[in-house]
Amino acid sequence: MITEKLQNAINGQINAEMWSANLYLAMSFYMDKEGFDGFAHWLKKQSEEEMEHACAMAGYLVKRGGTPKVDKVDVVPNGWGTPMEVFEHVYKHECHVSELINTLVDVASAEKDKATQDFLWGFVREQVEEEATAQGIVDKLKKAGDAGIFYVDAQLKNR
Ligand code: MG
Repeated sequence: MITEKLQNAINGQINAEMWSANLYLAMSFYMDKEGFDGFAHWLKKQSEEEMEHACAMAGYLVKRGGTPKVDKVDVVPNGWGTPMEVFEHVYKHECHVSELINTLVDVASAEKDKATQDFLWGFVREQVEEEATAQGIVDKLKKAGDAGIFYVDAQLKNR
């Protein structure tokens, strides 16, 4: 059985994952409106992935005798500048999420909950990929410049 403290911390992360899902959905809508279908598609998938993270955490809480919660999700920003600015924001946000996950590992460790630490390592690894992927897109956009932006947009449609 999971401790209440750890259950509450995971519920906090479920809320953060849902907020991330909304952030990426808002970015997807924005890119769609700006005429970048590929970026919009990639961000929509990213949003769906964040919702899957929230559900995986909820499923884990149930398995451990805890109670997952859907809480009020704060409003997300909307309206960005260039696609580069959008993806720089994605990168910055993923770095922030990595910190949240690391803090959650610390809570699991303080609660001496080995199973939860093990469960969370998957997310620690996932964040390495998330940061690298977002940074990779920023780098690509930098190299592409104005002329190559539609090429990168077309590439991201394949996600
Ligand atoms: Mg996530």
